[in-house]
Amino acid sequence: MESLFGDQYDNKDEKSNLFADIILPVPIPKMFTYKIPRNLAESIGIGFRVIVQFGKKKILTGIIGRVHQKPPTSYDAKPILDLLDNHATVNPIQIRFWAWMAEYYCCHIGEVMNAALPSGLKLSSESKIQLNPTFDPDTSPYPLDEREELLLQALANKEEMSYEDCEAVLGIKSIHGILKSLVIKEAIIVFEQVKEKYSPKVESRIRFSHEHVKDKKLLEALFNEIAGKPKQEEILLKYLQEVPVYKKPELNQKGLEKKVISDAGLSASSLKTLIKNGVLEEFKIIISRFEEEEGSNEEIVLSSEQEEAFQQIKKEFEDKNTVLLHGITGSGKTELYITLIKEVLAGGSQVLLLLPEIALTTHMVGRLRQVFGSSMGVYHSKYSDNERVEVWNGVLSGKLSFVVGVRSSIFLPFDSLGMVIIDEEHEPSYKQFDPAPRFQARDAGIMLSWLHQSKTLLGSATPSFETFHNAKTGKYGYVSLEKRFGEAQLPDYYLADILVDKKKNLLKLDFTRLMREKIQEALNNQEQVLIFQNRRGYAPYISCEDCGWIPECEHCDVSLTYHQFGEEMRCHYCGFKEKVPHACSACGSNKLSAVGLGTERIEESLSLLFPEARVARMDLDTTRSKYGYQRLLEDFGSGNVDILVGTQMITKGLDFDRVTVVGIMDADRILYFPDFRAGERAFQQITQVAGRAGRRDKKGSVIIQTRKPEQAIFGQIISGDYKSFYLQEMGERQRFFYPPFVKIIKITTRHKDYKTAEKSARYLHNLMGDIQVKKILLGPEKGLIGKIKNQYIFESIVKLDRTGNAQAHFKQELLHILEEMQAHKDFRGVRFVVDVDPY
Ligand code: ADP
Ligand code: ZN
Ligand code: ZN
Repeated sequence: MESLFGDQYDNKDEKSNLFADIILPVPIPKMFTYKIPRNLAESIGIGFRVIVQFGKKKILTGIIGRVHQKPPTSYDAKPILDLLDNHATVNPIQIRFWAWMAEYYCCHIGEVMNAALPSGLKLSSESKIQLNPTFDPDTSPYPLDEREELLLQALANKEEMSYEDCEAVLGIKSIHGILKSLVIKEAIIVFEQVKEKYSPKVESRIRFSHEHVKDKKLLEALFNEIAGKPKQEEILLKYLQEVPVYKKPELNQKGLEKKVISDAGLSASSLKTLIKNGVLEEFKIIISRFEEEEGSNEEIVLSSEQEEAFQQIKKEFEDKNTVLLHGITGSGKTELYITLIKEVLAGGSQVLLLLPEIALTTHMVGRLRQVFGSSMGVYHSKYSDNERVEVWNGVLSGKLSFVVGVRSSIFLPFDSLGMVIIDEEHEPSYKQFDPAPRFQARDAGIMLSWLHQSKTLLGSATPSFETFHNAKTGKYGYVSLEKRFGEAQLPDYYLADILVDKKKNLLKLDFTRLMREKIQEALNNQEQVLIFQNRRGYAPYISCEDCGWIPECEHCDVSLTYHQFGEEMRCHYCGFKEKVPHACSACGSNKLSAVGLGTERIEESLSLLFPEARVARMDLDTTRSKYGYQRLLEDFGSGNVDILVGTQMITKGLDFDRVTVVGIMDADRILYFPDFRAGERAFQQITQVAGRAGRRDKKGSVIIQTRKPEQAIFGQIISGDYKSFYLQEMGERQRFFYPPFVKIIKITTRHKDYKTAEKSARYLHNLMGDIQVKKILLGPEKGLIGKIKNQYIFESIVKLDRTGNAQAHFKQELLHILEEMQAHKDFRGVRFVVDVDPY
């Protein structure tokens, strides 16, 4: 901390002239300067959490980004109200990382802070209501209405009430009007109260009282005293042995759980007596929300291919910061990671292992937990706030030097990373869509690693084109693993032509004959089956057989998905729901039919086709609860389920012995997605889901249902010819200016009024056209989905040269333009969203 204030600062008087630039969790393009009060000057530094007033009433948690002596020129600096901790919560590398992220992804550092800090570390302020002490209803010139009277009565008995309390008293929502009126009548005061969100988990425990532990004689006396009560003696002896408090009194601090004592047979009344007599004492201790687990620390024995890859990785790291490990499914990338992680940890550095989403982590985390126990932190989106803060503090205190987590774990307070491993680096879920920062966690992870002067290992069986391109051009090192571990072989592929079967009347409930036979065979052999369809619900839409009417969302430009569960039509974009219509709204016909295939429908069809099989479904709808996903996987793993139907959730990471058949219901749907990455994604998704089959001694089968089996991509997937596929697609990307040959920035304009949205988008588009960099500017066009949540959407696409400073220059100018437009009354209520490297 000493260098923070610079050398010029040693004069005591100058302390009162210290200012701090503070990062606040608001979407505003700068830091704010606050005055550091004299009493805090000694104890404050970069990365500390402070409380400040923002605007007229808001109280916010901020992070100190800079300390200096320059008062702001355009406003009077307000003082920092309070300091929250006696240590920094965020370190200087993180602040540099935040600044980089804001600049690269065209957002504000406050937005990055907001994403980075678990909300438990941000105090929230809440509006509270208080009776105005000088208010006297008898002398007040304003008459009160009935509801106001009622509220004031309730307030008279309380010191303060929240908005919700007021709502409860009146039995109505939206009480703003009433409160406002009461403020004007000077009957109440509204104020902001700050509250800490994180609450540590506290447990009541028992230990020897202080003086007994200090004094050996007293302890002996104690035993003499209870000599006639063998049970008590036994328990206390046990405690003394477990916790050698004789020798190390400080060990007594942890104490014993009450449960342990009662389990050992000490009655509640004897415990009470011992406490009353001052022998034992009860105290509270902060405990972890996570279970303590010993790691096995086992020796990992790598196969010869793996060992060779391991040595190559280390060799590549000698002169490359980033290495791609291109290892086919089942080649054992996890064991390689473990070997590497152990080595880095042994060298005293920290390790971050990124996984694309929690759905994927179960197997991997299970395996890592086995090896590393609770010395490994896990950080993911289904964790509560309190759990996240605990992991954060674990990293901060040095207790956790290895964390495995999803994209937000790049924000944890590491201070000496030695290795960042990014598993399944090709996964699109590394990209954050909303809100800002719209970052790509793989790319950001590489940057983070670079800031730490650390190494990055990217792992995948189907690398992203960006990464493969970087490996081919020598920017990244490249290591491949081309054999499955052990005896396991890659599965056999079968293409099943949907149209041919349809013609021959062999298509039953959307299943081709081949697919049905393979499933039946697996069931006969007590093996398991995975069926993949990337669409949840029963049917993507329903349609009137007479006039073609399709029910659409009231708020979005999309058809409603039919969900049989709950008999509902649901919008997958805004959550809107309605009952399934019985008749066509356009012509009144009651011939409505469900069109297309969702996971619910496939589940139903499977139950009809294979009545003896136990079928389960894994998609967003069945895994919403915290352990929903895990429970389904456990069921499948323990053999309680024969066939598992699922969306992309089942395509990755699953490692089950008995899965021998994988079915892909509709490969065309993956291939014909209107996006330049559609081919790449199809290759990846099909290869990944196929990779779940036959991972042990028995060879697996993969059945791909399609209407166009002759397409080249199938041949390439089947022969695992990633390189030909890559070369062919890259040719197209180069010709049509797509990444990785250019950088893309997408700018979206939204407004509830169509005309305003369009006009604003055009205006912005023209200004972007004037920015002096070489670029291709496309649009503005109505979005692929023209309206979401009642907001009309227009998009412009900018393609920029990757080299030189075209990008940085363009982004800077763009931010200026947006700032000015947003401040202008013509664009009030218009929302502009900048997405760098969109997906
Ligand atoms: P990948 O992630 O490359 O698809 P995994 O890491 O899941 O592959 O490995 C596939 C299977 O082989 C797993 O069940 C794993 O435990 C096993 N395996 C791989 N390498 C080893 C090894 N060196 N020793 C023991 N088992 C291994
Ligand atoms: Zn109709
Ligand atoms: Zn909708």
